[in-house]
Amino acid sequence: MPTIAAPDTSALVDSFGRHVRYLRISLTDRCDFRCVYCMSQDMQFVPRAQVLTLEEILTIATAFHDLGVTKIRITGGEPLVRRNAMWLIERLGALDALQELVLTTNGSQLQRLAQPLRRAGVRRINISLDSLQPERFRRITRVGDLEQVMQGIDAAQAAGFDRLKINSVILRNRNHDEVCDLVQFAVDRDMDITFIEEMPLGTIDDHDRAEAYYSSDRVRSDIERRFPLQASDETSGGPARYFRIPHSRTRVGLISPHSHNFCDACNRVRLTTEGRLLLCLGQEHSVDLRHVIRSHPGDESYLRQAIVDAMRIKPHGHDFALTEQPVILRHMNATGG
Ligand code: SAM
Ligand code: SF4
Repeated sequence: MPTIAAPDTSALVDSFGRHVRYLRISLTDRCDFRCVYCMSQDMQFVPRAQVLTLEEILTIATAFHDLGVTKIRITGGEPLVRRNAMWLIERLGALDALQELVLTTNGSQLQRLAQPLRRAGVRRINISLDSLQPERFRRITRVGDLEQVMQGIDAAQAAGFDRLKINSVILRNRNHDEVCDLVQFAVDRDMDITFIEEMPLGTIDDHDRAEAYYSSDRVRSDIERRFPLQASDETSGGPARYFRIPHSRTRVGLISPHSHNFCDACNRVRLTTEGRLLLCLGQEHSVDLRHVIRSHPGDESYLRQAIVDAMRIKPHGHDFALTEQPVILRHMNATGG
């Protein structure tokens, strides 16, 4: 029987010497929105029997915590539409050595859940917002209501999180002309903002991704026409480059998987809704942790060994390309974006 001493702060090191300290969990692949870059109009969701239970997710997250993970992000799909999501989030918030419990959401449920999330120990929230224009917001999310998200942002600001951040995916001829308005919104609200280039994850039916590509470099030069940007050397071990807007606390992040390589400092892995541990967002290398825990109920040593062993197959980097056929067939909602 495999045995590993816990907690071990250096247990998760891959074959390139990178320490994995950050786990992103997709709580559900379902969502109340259908953003055009994330999903197709008619999505097939994972059958419920194949979805990890909340108890199974807690078991896996606890194993990662015991192996030295200090940051967990709850994402999805829309994590806050999963029934009893707060049950899990409260328990994750109680893990002793976890330094950061954070969440990515579309904001639709925040009016109801911002306070309970704060009380559960969530420190920071990323809220997706691609347009400040109600009709355009509806067009991009297919079904979303901008007013509901704005009320969610108000509720999150009132709940007193350490920091709130807007995530905006910028698409040419859809919302690229709103880059500066979104920055101004973030400055006015004392929030951070990150602009994300669209990634070729899954087949979508709305647009040609190559045609809609709007580079981070263009976003940056658009912003610089209205705001002085000061480069910052802050890093989260992830794909964002950061800038500051002088005389404000707002940080502007640019995520550009196409144009800048960010893999050398990668410190993260992802748990899908079905319990697949994905070692890289842009590759299919994975380990079926659901199979491991369902084969050995009540004995977590197998799970911990499987997680440690998985580090050996973490690939060095992704190969995103704007080809017609996506290299990665899964959509972002299944992955935990
Ligand atoms: N539903 C939540 C939300 O929208 O924030 C959490 C999950 S969503 C998949 C996480 C982030 O991934 C969002 O900021 C979304 O805009 C982004 N995203 C989704 N599909 C993407 C894609 N194909 N390329 C780049 N970003 C994407
Ligand atoms: Fe839902 Fe988030 Fe994907 Fe939009 S980006 S469809 S809100 S999971």
